[in-house]
Amino acid sequence: MNRRELLKSIGLSTVALPLLSAASNFTSKAIQPSGLNFKFGDLDLFLFSDGTNILKEPFPLIAPNKTEKDFLNATKECYLDQQPIAFSLNILLIKKGEKYILFDTGNGLGKNENVGKLLEQMQATNIPAHLITDVILTHAHGDHIGGILLPDGSYAFKNANYYIAQKEFDFWMQENNQSTKNILEKIQTKLTLINQDDILFDCIKTVEIPGHTPGHLAFEIAQNGKVLKHIADAVHSPILIRYPEYGIKYDRDFDLAVSTRIKVLEEAYQKRQIIVAMHLPWPGIGYIGKRDGKYDWIPLSFGSNLKQIQL
Ligand SMILES: [Zn+2]
Repeated sequence: MNRRELLKSIGLSTVALPLLSAASNFTSKAIQPSGLNFKFGDLDLFLFSDGTNILKEPFPLIAPNKTEKDFLNATKECYLDQQPIAFSLNILLIKKGEKYILFDTGNGLGKNENVGKLLEQMQATNIPAHLITDVILTHAHGDHIGGILLPDGSYAFKNANYYIAQKEFDFWMQENNQSTKNILEKIQTKLTLINQDDILFDCIKTVEIPGHTPGHLAFEIAQNGKVLKHIADAVHSPILIRYPEYGIKYDRDFDLAVSTRIKVLEEAYQKRQIIVAMHLPWPGIGYIGKRDGKYDWIPLSFGSNLKQIQL
């Protein structure tokens, strides 16, 4: 029995094996997870990991206005006190007919050894970069747009068109940040500027979630009356789901980001939306629940044949 037959016999696609390995090696050297593939309505969805950054000093990066004791209590409450606090980079890809629509591009190659895995992961799932037709950018931070160009300055996704919020584009064009400007200028001829409530590809609605950056966008993907919402960087950690007001230094407008975060979480909870979040622990897809009056991260469980998961 070869590897493929073995996997088939236990009801798993080949794409799932590295994930199992990662789980069983939890405390030892990190093994990069591979992609997930599942159905949402008529769409084929994929999640890839661009990598994971383990935080050397999570406090006061998270909860900068709180005491260290508050922070440690929050980590304990989220069962994160016995494991490294890390930011994953979960990248969503939607296949709709002939369209391959990628949400953000990760850090890009050559930044550091823990990240920049997206292209390799796509290749391993038989989706080479040239198939990507569209790249929707949630915002213009380096871990989201860094993968647009290869280290030699050429396009990583040579056939792709790009989408970003008008507000985000305008903001970065007047900022003193040359590397971000260079990337946005390079794609300008392939770029469509989008706004609140625009509908892309008949099923993807833009939702402004300002605070992290001025033009930070979430996306509601609708299928058969259900909504899967990509909330980008509205939360970076389960700690910020439990304690959204603790905030994170990465947010350009701290107070606005807190109120946006609470709004996003409350709506997700009320409407039972399926959430995809960029930096939550891999694969960063699940629901927002409530426990003791506070929000809770309820990750989706991927224990069986992923192809059979029909959200
Ligand atoms: Zn980010």
